[in-house]
Amino acid sequence: MGGPVLKVEAVGKCYGTFRALEGFDLELTPGIYGLLGPNGAGKSTVMNILGGLIEPSEGRVTFNRREIGKMGKEYRSVLGIVPQQQRMYEFFTGFEFLSYMAALKGIPKVAARERIGRLLAQVELTEDAGKKVGSYSGGMKQRLLLAQALLNDPTVLLLDEPTAGLDPRQRIVLRNLIAGLGLEKILIFATHVVSDVESIAKEVLLLKKGRLIRRGTVTELCEPLEGRVVEILVPAEELEARMQQGRIVSFRQVKGGVKVRVLLHGTDIPEGALVAEPTLEEVFLDQFGTEDERDGNGG
Ligand code: ADP
Ligand code: MG
Repeated sequence: MGGPVLKVEAVGKCYGTFRALEGFDLELTPGIYGLLGPNGAGKSTVMNILGGLIEPSEGRVTFNRREIGKMGKEYRSVLGIVPQQQRMYEFFTGFEFLSYMAALKGIPKVAARERIGRLLAQVELTEDAGKKVGSYSGGMKQRLLLAQALLNDPTVLLLDEPTAGLDPRQRIVLRNLIAGLGLEKILIFATHVVSDVESIAKEVLLLKKGRLIRRGTVTELCEPLEGRVVEILVPAEELEARMQQGRIVSFRQVKGGVKVRVLLHGTDIPEGALVAEPTLEEVFLDQFGTEDERDGNGG
């Protein structure tokens, strides 16, 4: 009885004297988890530990109650991973790349051929399978990497910033593909982009400076902001003054002024404001500020 469980207990990680992860506890069952945090939060560290690519400094990770470090090959056989920094073999064709990866994973040739054919169709690369990877667009490369991670039909699928460098349309294509994978797999999607996971994650894990600060459904994470997000129509010249009351989330010009969406500092609703439903974007903004306010420069 019971489906697969990936469990993380009191895991921490230091790189030299720098602590990148602390007191990380988590129990994961099938479904899509969005591991969300700004650059430097520790997402790749978590992913690499879950993928068995690096050892935690303390704590343990188990898959179905067995330590992944001790499972070795057995764990790798249920694991699919797209690391953030992945080598691609640009001179291979898409088909050759998948064949090569299948060989590395020890998948018998005949089975691999059949599986590659199906995966190429799934990631919509059938027609481009004969082209060199070097000629692929960013979106095509990411879809090929996803196909690679699916070769062994993994139970645990780790995707570290799979949408990095993609334009908005390609992001959506990839997100929809990923959304269709998550029902039976334990799928973790690490990203610093809220919209990547907002609509597809059964749970969002908010990571801040190496700590899991919140976890829950999007609705649960948004709850504390109830009543703090408002929309106001203001004359353009009043925009500046409105910024004192909160953070401006977005604004657009409309007839008669500017429609501003504001995350209020407090709970006093300004005159003329309409209370709006908070979104995950605002939860992120509340925790981390804007990109400009954070350390680092993105990417
Ligand atoms: P994210 O994926 O959320 O951007 P990372 O897990 O890559 O975060 O990094 C978390 C922190 O750990 C960052 O401050 C980063 O500079 C640091 N870090 C990551 N890998 C190493 C490493 N191999 N050696 C030293 N510091 C590292
Ligand atoms: Mg990362």
